[in-house]
Amino acid sequence: MSPGTVDERVCEACGPRGGRGLFDTACMNDASILILALATQQLLFATGWLLSARYLAGARAAMLHWAGFCLASGGSLLLFTELAREALGGAAMMLRNTGVVLAFVLLRRGLLAFTRQPLRDREQWALFAAFVALMAVIGLAPAQAVERTVVISAMMSWLMVRAAIEAIRGGCAEFGGVPVAVIGSPLLLLGSVMALRAVLALTNPDTGAVSITHAAHFNIMLLLTMVVISSMLHVALGFLVMRRMVLELQHLSSHDSLTRLLNRRAFEQRLAQEVAASRRTGAPLGLLMVDIDHFKHINDRFGHHVGDTALRQTAQRLAQAARLNDVVARVGGEEFGVLLPATDAAGIRQSAERLRHAVGHEPLAFADGLHLVTVSVGASMLLTQEADPEVVLRRADQALYRAKAEGRDRVVFDTLAQVSDGDVATPLRAASRPAELR
Ligand code: GH3
Ligand code: MG
Ligand code: MG
Repeated sequence: MSPGTVDERVCEACGPRGGRGLFDTACMNDASILILALATQQLLFATGWLLSARYLAGARAAMLHWAGFCLASGGSLLLFTELAREALGGAAMMLRNTGVVLAFVLLRRGLLAFTRQPLRDREQWALFAAFVALMAVIGLAPAQAVERTVVISAMMSWLMVRAAIEAIRGGCAEFGGVPVAVIGSPLLLLGSVMALRAVLALTNPDTGAVSITHAAHFNIMLLLTMVVISSMLHVALGFLVMRRMVLELQHLSSHDSLTRLLNRRAFEQRLAQEVAASRRTGAPLGLLMVDIDHFKHINDRFGHHVGDTALRQTAQRLAQAARLNDVVARVGGEEFGVLLPATDAAGIRQSAERLRHAVGHEPLAFADGLHLVTVSVGASMLLTQEADPEVVLRRADQALYRAKAEGRDRVVFDTLAQVSDGDVATPLRAASRPAELR
C-alpha cells in the first residue's frame, strides 16, 4: 500500500469526486471496501492481542507490541477516509505515513521480545526518527508521490525482512524449523510485496505510486494480498504463542520444580520406553536408585528451607556427573532415579560409583558452612527374561534398601542382576566412608 501518495485524479470506476463518502470518491469502490476490511481486521486482532496480554501468562510484552502494531496499522488505514482528511487536512497523510511505519517497528519489536532477543531500541527508534525526518523533507505534495511511496515501501520491506530473519534465528532452537517457517513466511512475503511496490513505484509510477484509495487493479491485488498476509501473520503468531504455552505446560507436568530434574511420572514413562527399546534392540539397560543418607538430619538441624537447598545441590551434582544419554529424575522426596541406556554391568557399576562420588567426595555449601552429604545407591539391570519396568524398579529399590542396611554411602548391586551377569559376581561396595552428616 502507499499511505504517502496523494493522487487527485478521479477514479474511473467511481466517477468525479463530489460526495462526502468515507473516502474521496462519491461511492465506496473496491479499494475503499478492502481498506475498511483491512482496518477492521487489524482492530479485531488488536482486541484479541490485548485480551491475550491481559489473560494469558507469558509473552505479555510481545502481545502488547502486536496489539500496538494492529492499532497503529488499523488507525493509519482509517486515516484514508474523507472524514479524517477533513478533520486533519495534510496532517492525516503525515500521520498515516508515520503510523504505518511505527506499526511495523512495533511488530518487529514484538517478535524480538517474543523470541527473547535484545529489542535493539536505539537502532529501531533512530531509524524511525530518520524516516519521519525524510518524510518531512519530501513533503506532502502530489508531485512527490513516487518518492514517498518508495521510501515507505522500502522501509517496510527492510523492517519485515529483518524481522523474518531475526524471528527465524531466535525461534529455531525453541520451536523447531517448521513452526518458525510458519512465522517467517508471511513476514518474508510482506517484505517481498513491499519491495515490489517500491520497485514498481520507481519504474512504473502510474501503477506503483497511485493512491491506494483508487480501485486500480494493482491496488486491489495489493490490498487483497495484505488481507491474506495479515491473516496468515496473526494466525502464525497465535500458533507460536499457543505452542510455547503447550511446551511450557508439558515441561511443568514432567519436571520437578525444586530440582528441575524429570519427575517420577516422566521417569516411569522413560523407563517403560527404554525397557521396550532394550527388548527390541537387545541393548543392556541399567537402573540406579539414589537416596540421600540421613537427609532428615539436615531438615531437623537447619530447617526445611536449607534442606531444599541441599536437595537442589545434590540433584545438580548428580545431573552433572551423569552421561549425556543417562536420564536423571527426582522420584521421591530425597530419592533419585537414574536410567543408564546401553550400559552393561561394568558400565552400571562405574556410573553408580561416579554418581556416589560426585555427591560425597566434596562437602556441599549450605547454611553458611560446608557439610558432607552422602548417597546410597541401589543398582539393577534389565534381565533377559524381563519385560516389566516395575520389576526392574523394585529390584533397584531392594538393592538400595540393602545399601542402607549395610551402612550407607555405598553402591549395592541387585542380587538377581549379579546372577545373570558374571561380570558382577561380587556386590558393588564403595570404599567405606563415614556416612553421617558432618
Ligand atoms: P536414610 O539415610 O535412611 O535415607 O535417612 P533419611 O533421613 O534420608 O530418610 P527419611 O526417609 O527418614 O527422611 C527423608 C526426609 O526427607 C523426610 C522428609 O521430610 C524429607 N523431605 C522429603 N521431601 C523433601 C523436600 O522436598 N524438601 C525437604 N527439605 N525435605 C524433604
Ligand atoms: Mg534418605
Ligand atoms: Mg528416601
